Amino acid sequence: MHPRNPYNEPLDFADLARRYPPLRPHVFINHTGSSTINFKSLPAQRRLTEALFHLDYGLSLTLPDDRLCPPVPNRLNYVLWLQDIVKSTCVSDTVRGLDIGTGASAIYPLLACRIQPTWNFIATDIDGRSVQFAQQNITQNSMESRIIVQHVPADGAILQPLLASSMNFDFTMCNPPFYSSAEDVSRSAEFKELGPNAVCSGAEVEMITPGGETSFVARIFSESLQLTTKCRWYTSMLGKMSSIPDIVSLFREHSVDNYAITEFVQGRTRRWAIGWSFQDARLPDTFARISNPTLQNMMPPRNTLHRVFPGARSVDILAIALRNVLALIDGVSVASSAAPVASKNSSTILVHARGNTWSRAARRRRLPETVCAQEPQVLHCSIECHEPSSSYILKDDIPCEIVFTWVEGKDRSVFESFASHVSRKVTSTLQESGDVL
Ligand code: SAH
Repeated sequence: MHPRNPYNEPLDFADLARRYPPLRPHVFINHTGSSTINFKSLPAQRRLTEALFHLDYGLSLTLPDDRLCPPVPNRLNYVLWLQDIVKSTCVSDTVRGLDIGTGASAIYPLLACRIQPTWNFIATDIDGRSVQFAQQNITQNSMESRIIVQHVPADGAILQPLLASSMNFDFTMCNPPFYSSAEDVSRSAEFKELGPNAVCSGAEVEMITPGGETSFVARIFSESLQLTTKCRWYTSMLGKMSSIPDIVSLFREHSVDNYAITEFVQGRTRRWAIGWSFQDARLPDTFARISNPTLQNMMPPRNTLHRVFPGARSVDILAIALRNVLALIDGVSVASSAAPVASKNSSTILVHARGNTWSRAARRRRLPETVCAQEPQVLHCSIECHEPSSSYILKDDIPCEIVFTWVEGKDRSVFESFASHVSRKVTSTLQESGDVL
């Protein structure tokens, strides 16, 4: 579950039913004495989604009986992850997104536009019935000026709306049909869990696509190779963990190293989302990597590097040494107005380097002209000094650390060599000044 997801706490169904009467007939007290609903009942699921839309987002929703009923907490996880990505890598005032396969509810654009007043969407679907309901839901919430629904052909380019637009996009999102066939659906763990008599309101077009989700996302990826920076982040949800290696191999085959993997856990349901970008803005590891051990060799390279300084007397002394070191590197400017020394636990410094001037080769050249003539590799990096606490048991022994986060740049080796150079120099500065224990 995303840390900002308000549904981290169990729902109070009795309270929801009090505030949203149509839910009342579906709420009962279970054997443990708590109020609940029957999650296998489609009308109960629908009333719950409508209740959360209405009570928590002031949105009214009309859901047809023969299409999927989206659970709000799960869909919100994806929106919140996109919010993280947009906040850390986009600068524009107006944010443009494409929701591929919006469904009858248009749940992603409606939730996202409600939470983010500057976001706008194009929402597509190949299913006429879903498009009709999506349009109705958008109109009844007066979102027509911010969400444009397009009925698209199944055999057309999935990213056609980007091609057709004169504007650039900030992200694409998609909850694709997961399965490749009816047999694939019945083999799935979720279907088995529901039991043989369980009803599922998902229409075939919502659940099944040729080749399953891997092929669908591979299609988006191959189209994105043509569109590249027309969109900042291309993303998709995945319903099967086993799809991740296939998608990551495509990234690797095409040398796309700016990608992200995340995981959404909601009760017993587990989902993944994957994103990739052809732009130079990088994501911190907290948004781009997860600790799931099965997926470790699928993870993108680290954009967040921790360097420990065991002997540094205090975080303030470390921050001063860092400032002094940065001031001495040619072509490096400290861009942020953050506090000059560390506040209690940390301070962030935003550094811009106009090229690699710190490597031995660059220092030997020494001539700024040479650096400029050589296509400077611009590096933006945020640097934080702080005291890690979790991994060290002895309070007196807490080493201060510097955390380098790659914010923007083309060449990973420039970021890595910058972090190593600064760390080495900080160590020697601390030793020379006697500020180490
Ligand atoms: N976004 C909704 C619906 C997801 S179901 C939700 O999260 O609840 C997947 C949707 O993708 C279906 O509505 C299906 O009609 C649509 N779809 C399938 N192939 C598509 C394509 N090529 N382009 C756009 N939408 C497509």
